[in-house]
Amino acid sequence: MAIAPPRSKTLEDLRFANSFAGLGDAFSERRTPAGIPCARLVAFSPEAAALIDLRAGEQMRPEFAALVSGNALLHGMEPVAALYGGHQFGVWAGQLGDGRAILLGEVDQTEPYELQIKGGGMTAFSRFADGRAVVRSTVREYLASEALHHLGIPTTRALAMAAGEEPVLRERVERAATLIRMAPSFVRFGSFEIFHYRNRHAELKTLADYVIDRFYPECGTSDDRYERFFATVVERTAALMAQWQAVGFAHGVMNTDNFSILGLTLDYGPYGFVEEYDPGFICNHTDESGRYAFDRQPTIGLWNCYALAEALSSLIPRAQLDAALAGYQDVYRTTFLSLMRAKLGILDVRDDDADLALELFGLLHARRVDWTNFWRALSRADADALAMLGEDATSRTWFERYAERRAGDPRGEEHRHAAMRAVNPKYVLRNWVAQEAIEACEAGNDSVVAAVYDVLRAPYDEHPEREAWAQPAPARYRDLSVSCSS
Ligand code: AMP
Ligand code: MG
Repeated sequence: MAIAPPRSKTLEDLRFANSFAGLGDAFSERRTPAGIPCARLVAFSPEAAALIDLRAGEQMRPEFAALVSGNALLHGMEPVAALYGGHQFGVWAGQLGDGRAILLGEVDQTEPYELQIKGGGMTAFSRFADGRAVVRSTVREYLASEALHHLGIPTTRALAMAAGEEPVLRERVERAATLIRMAPSFVRFGSFEIFHYRNRHAELKTLADYVIDRFYPECGTSDDRYERFFATVVERTAALMAQWQAVGFAHGVMNTDNFSILGLTLDYGPYGFVEEYDPGFICNHTDESGRYAFDRQPTIGLWNCYALAEALSSLIPRAQLDAALAGYQDVYRTTFLSLMRAKLGILDVRDDDADLALELFGLLHARRVDWTNFWRALSRADADALAMLGEDATSRTWFERYAERRAGDPRGEEHRHAAMRAVNPKYVLRNWVAQEAIEACEAGNDSVVAAVYDVLRAPYDEHPEREAWAQPAPARYRDLSVSCSS
């Protein structure tokens, strides 16, 4: 077995390329972050640090806190805020852009990572807002992005978080915080849309070539590269939606400016994990019409691909766009069903598996059973899961069908259950648990953020000492509501 080399780089050893900044003024504006004063480092992800080979212990240095809080740059960084537009709640919103995010630089290595600060002050794209982020929203993004990663779901990552004294006005006065997040690229569907709607076809092509060359090299260099690229984005988006549905993740604000061109989960705001199963779950209380309700996510993912198709229509013939869009449904369905089979502990493929799953969803909904805990119980013993559903004739009928379905499984029960526990997490980030971490952090105690992080980095383990975090909200946290305000 190969032994991983120790992470080797100091902050000063990091080399930065700035390929996105290099695209020029039509794509971004140069902007130095405005740091938050009196900042402390709140949280740090060693797994994210490993992606840029950052030496263990570097996070203890004052230079690291200064970087994370936007008070200092590293040599070679060329910070910029990116231009983009987007469809918000189904309506073309025109120009948006990095209003409070600044791309600091791209770590130059075999698999480059961009470092972006969120909450680093105003940019040319801030419109009427202050360019800041608060402790609440920053803890939420830090924990959720690392949680999704450890659940095997493509996402931007969070390297570290800082918090300061600066007051920031939201519904109440809160404190400023910053996050350093990481991704190979933060280009969004809306990054293409803005050039399309402005009839800037040359810039649109430059951006497409940039993204394809760097992130979709398999699409080649011939004329059909744009359609191959688009087809791959559609596939990745469909697969991402299937992964969200399987784990019960509701994004909350699926505007096209929050959709990554790499198929990553991006921009964590008023997201929520489904607890008592309700397909119509709306996690964002500002979403009055339920456009982004949990069960609409796959449809909206496709809607967003249609918006991207429109934006790319100067590069790709309509017939090819339509052909790629037609592939969405199949990728979604295949991915979702294979995830469901794994969750059910079923090895082979049968045509009526969708019915088995749908019947179960109906029961979970009717009885308001906790999504995560049901699957975890099913990974221990049928009896435990049956008890959660209610031991009546309807539930028993489903369990009989389920037992028949897996009858030919050559694995012993123990083996099957172990495989199921490796795909059915015990822990997801429940809103109330995030809230507990936030309240502690706001009071100056960062240890709860760290403890929640430790559980979420190993969500399939038991962590018996943290059993409470696998349970529904205690009374004082019921009726939490989250909105777009962050
Ligand atoms: P969101 O819905 O949070 O993804 O944000 C939509 C747009 O509003 C993006 O252009 C953001 O950069 C911008 N925005 C959100 N919050 C702020 C803020 N506090 N200051 C400046 N711009 C913001
Ligand atoms: Mg956004």
